[in-house]
Amino acid sequence: MPTWIGQAVRHGIVTSRYPAEPASEAEVPPTGRPPVAVKGSKLLPAGASLCPVGAISDRAVDRGRCIRCARCLPGGFEFRGPVESATRTRTGLVTGEPSPAAPEPTPPLAALSRSVHVFLVDAGSCNACNLEVLALANPFYDSQRLGVFFTNSPRHADVLLVVGVPTEEMVEPLRRAYDALPAPKAVVAVGVCAISGGAFAGTPGLHDALDQLVPVDVYVPGCPPAPVHVLDGLLRVVGRGRKAEGA
Ligand code: SF4
Ligand code: SF4
Repeated sequence: MPTWIGQAVRHGIVTSRYPAEPASEAEVPPTGRPPVAVKGSKLLPAGASLCPVGAISDRAVDRGRCIRCARCLPGGFEFRGPVESATRTRTGLVTGEPSPAAPEPTPPLAALSRSVHVFLVDAGSCNACNLEVLALANPFYDSQRLGVFFTNSPRHADVLLVVGVPTEEMVEPLRRAYDALPAPKAVVAVGVCAISGGAFAGTPGLHDALDQLVPVDVYVPGCPPAPVHVLDGLLRVVGRGRKAEGA
């Protein structure tokens, strides 16, 4: 015990200060921000020809499809979008023209703003999203300081957090888990696999969009999203999300 106290005094506080302060460089990987056309929409056609998943069209970038592969960078794109890129609507992930004018709906669990319990379901991930979500429970991110707890039972949960592109075999367990959550409840789709199928969109036996199986309240783009992105999405559920910076 004295050794631990000595180490604590030497190192000081190492826990993330997010969301009270912006995410640090160390908390956001190089691909942690969504790609944007640095010279505006004129570059979109060039990027569209480079994007392997159809995330770029002639008029817009769909963050809900982007797998952060960086192939569009030679076409004039940079990873410069906001860290806080989770949205309450699927259309909110489509940036550019036409602009998503609709205001975001009110937070689904605003009444539970001080504390939520989260049940994680891996519906068919590559495991990367899974690991990033679970990192929230480590001492650095320490999601409990913000009242975000993980539970192993959907009956004790307020939030169903889903990663991965849902496989046919996971459809029924997903629906059962959703039904088991007591009301009020919310669903958070983490990673582009859960949002749009990501790199696996159109694969037989997979369901490209979680929101076609259960209602989704918050979409967290990325492949994988970093823990701060997931935290941003979870805080958005209760109306405590940080205002987007660097948009
Ligand atoms: S990073 Fe890759 S997936 Fe994302 S928009 Fe660029 S080319 Fe498409
Ligand atoms: S979104 Fe990317 S990191 Fe997450 S499960 Fe799919 S492929 Fe893996």
